[in-house]
Amino acid sequence: MTGLFDTYHRRINYMRISVTDRCNMRCIYCTARSVPRLSHDDILRYKEIQRIVQAAVGLGVKSLRITGGEPLVRPDVSALIELLSQVEGISDISLTTNGALLDKYAVELKEAGLKRVNISLDSFKADRFKYITGTDKIEDVLKGIEAAKRAGMDPVKINMVVLKGINDDEVVDFARMSASEGWHVRYIEYMPFVDDGEDKGRVVAVGDILALIQQSLGKMEPCLPTKGNGPAKYYQLPNAKGTVGFIGAVTDCFCANCNRFRLTADGGLRPCLLEDDEIDIKGPLRSGVSLEELARLIQEAANMKREHHRLGEEFAPGKRQMWQIGG
Ligand code: SAM
Repeated sequence: MTGLFDTYHRRINYMRISVTDRCNMRCIYCTARSVPRLSHDDILRYKEIQRIVQAAVGLGVKSLRITGGEPLVRPDVSALIELLSQVEGISDISLTTNGALLDKYAVELKEAGLKRVNISLDSFKADRFKYITGTDKIEDVLKGIEAAKRAGMDPVKINMVVLKGINDDEVVDFARMSASEGWHVRYIEYMPFVDDGEDKGRVVAVGDILALIQQSLGKMEPCLPTKGNGPAKYYQLPNAKGTVGFIGAVTDCFCANCNRFRLTADGGLRPCLLEDDEIDIKGPLRSGVSLEELARLIQEAANMKREHHRLGEEFAPGKRQMWQIGG
């Protein structure tokens, strides 16, 4: 077998790249613990990211997702998209963003080679949005969604993290948008990532989210995935242009089909979002190692990939928070 495989014979062809640990929001479930921010020198330069991607492509990686922190707070992310578009072998580049700056950047990102975007939105209610994100940027996010569509990104997916007692009464409103606006909504099961005492009580199982929607809007039919590399299971309301997807990292573990690894903004290679295993690639990169050696390090990280994460087993990853890895 050629290409990048882990020790459980899973093919790894998708790389998520965090470009910053800074964010213009303070979501309650993402930034619970205060950790010193990275210094300028700690963060990989765009050319360095491009070189790591060149090594990964040699192993068969084809798809990239840019994330953060909030990727669009880093200056000139379009320049990175352009650099990565030039790497032969990359067929798909996407972005995960909170959307607040998309109205400003959607056109230039599309022109630079960005094909599609996932936008995080957890509530339609301004006061609740403020409670969850610590900001008043809901109108900016809604404008960002429209700007992404106008710029020709396809698909535009809306990611909602469902939190018990906080926004779970809005899941049906989000599903309605798949019919009225053609949105591709994805419900993300809350991952109790930082053990803050309240954490586990916030999880709403994806099965319960599906049931809530069907109780109100009737039976939905399973449908084919909207373009992407992710683990969501998709459904459609009758006659809806859009879809609803369910990502249940805790109650519907999809590790058996995991095809990804992650690069943190400061050059850590992580085979799993939900485990602390990580190796440093920045040090060797900055000491001038060859592409072959970088590829060897990527293979080493793949070899560390566990059969499955242990989030449901009283284990919480401790070293980094979600905003430091990229979700
Ligand atoms: N700032 C960007 C954004 O808001 O999409 C990208 C980074 S953010 C860490 C990526 C995704 O992770 C977002 O959709 C966010 O809602 C999700 N996320 C963060 N913490 C989470 C948690 N504990 N459980 C589930 N999803 C989480």
